[in-house]
Amino acid sequence: MTYDVDGIPVEAKAVDVAVVGAGQAGLSAGYQLRRDGLDFVMFDHAPRPGGAWQYRWPTLTLGKAHRIADLPGMPLGTPDPARPASEVVSEYFARYEREFGLDVRRPVDVSSVRDLPDGRLLLSTSEGDHAARFLINASGTWEKPFWPRYAGMEAFRGRHLHTHDYRGPDEFAGKRVVVVGGGASGVQALMEIAEVAAGTRWVTRRPPEWVEGPFDEELGRAAVAKVDERVRRGLPPASVVSVTGLMLTDEVRAARASGVLHRLPMFERITPDGVVWPDGSSYDADVVLWATGFRASLAHLTPLGLRGPGGGIVMDGTRVASDPRVHLLGYGPSASTIGANRAGRSAARAVRRALRGPGQPPGDIGRTAPNPPGERPEPPRDDRHAEIAPAA
Ligand SMILES: Cc1cc2nc3c(=O)[nH]c(=O)nc-3n(C[C@H](O)[C@H](O)[C@H](O)COP(=O)(O)OP(=O)(O)OC[C@H]3O[C@@H](n4cnc5c(N)ncnc54)[C@H](O)[C@@H]3O)c2cc1C
Repeated sequence: MTYDVDGIPVEAKAVDVAVVGAGQAGLSAGYQLRRDGLDFVMFDHAPRPGGAWQYRWPTLTLGKAHRIADLPGMPLGTPDPARPASEVVSEYFARYEREFGLDVRRPVDVSSVRDLPDGRLLLSTSEGDHAARFLINASGTWEKPFWPRYAGMEAFRGRHLHTHDYRGPDEFAGKRVVVVGGGASGVQALMEIAEVAAGTRWVTRRPPEWVEGPFDEELGRAAVAKVDERVRRGLPPASVVSVTGLMLTDEVRAARASGVLHRLPMFERITPDGVVWPDGSSYDADVVLWATGFRASLAHLTPLGLRGPGGGIVMDGTRVASDPRVHLLGYGPSASTIGANRAGRSAARAVRRALRGPGQPPGDIGRTAPNPPGERPEPPRDDRHAEIAPAA
């Protein structure tokens, strides 16, 4: 199809559904789309299968991960918990893509998604332009590490590091390390760094809330409900730990008893030599490790103007309330492996209903043929899109 975009003719490949990201969320959606025989394409700019798990530090073993939920239709099995989660999950995802014939186009970057005059969405990718009726966006958070700002940060003579770039404790041998952040990543990194470092300090904004494990379904549901309530109001999703608390494991109990997990309030400023608290006390440090989490990686959706005045995107389930063509997976309540699974299924089903009507039964997993062009129903048009005249 040829479109006139700002006076420039753009040749775009038509597709019913485009999925951006092939992590847990994207693959779950792909499974369901494939099962329903829909016409879809999946893009991922990472070099290999595995979503963000392929980048996680090697000392994050499967046994140390919270819990990795099975993808629909194929269990993870019982891999060795001592193996790095990055390896196990990448192998699992690769097997999954093969088993269900999910043709993930990679490495293909989706640089922007824009409105087209006929109500479709134009995806500009490193593999050419695509015009999709629906977008299932599952681009995760890994590529948007969150760095808070503190006075004096730039003047620090030591090293600033985010968990995004953490590769394990070895490089901290003999160093004095400040770990910032009260989430599971900070706690795990701190415990392993403390074994080799000359000294550590742990600072968090709020006192940690320790929770007796295991992290069962009931706790999971309560956490999801809290995040869901926020994003429905258009507020940015809260941090994971603020809704789950920190699990007490034997290792954590031991680290608390030994003083490694002694929490200090946030420092006030950073000096060339270390950090200073409001009462004037200080700690000289070689490294500040920012275990301060991630934000949704959605820069490619900026042209759609989805963010509201609350700073977040008002969501109705997986669907963007202001733009029913767009589903966000791994955003807010679905930012966990279990949440991503559910979201993938529900987004794919919503798209199927919109394309085919509510009475249509699901197709078979083996069916891959796209809908014949003449049989495709029009995408739903909300008021905003109805006002836009189709291209000549
Ligand atoms: C350190 C850490 C540990 C975690 N541990 C757990 C755990 O133990 N259990 C749990 O349930 N959850 C855990 N989580 C949460 C985790 O993020 C989710 O569980 C889940 O893996 C996220 O899946 P996803 O599909 O949403 O995103 P991702 O796995 O991040 O996949 C997103 C994919 O989108 C691709 N992509 C992004 N932007 C573009 C673009 N513009 N164009 C093309 N491709 C793009 C990326 O290459 C990537 O492959 C953890 C998170 C972190 C940060």
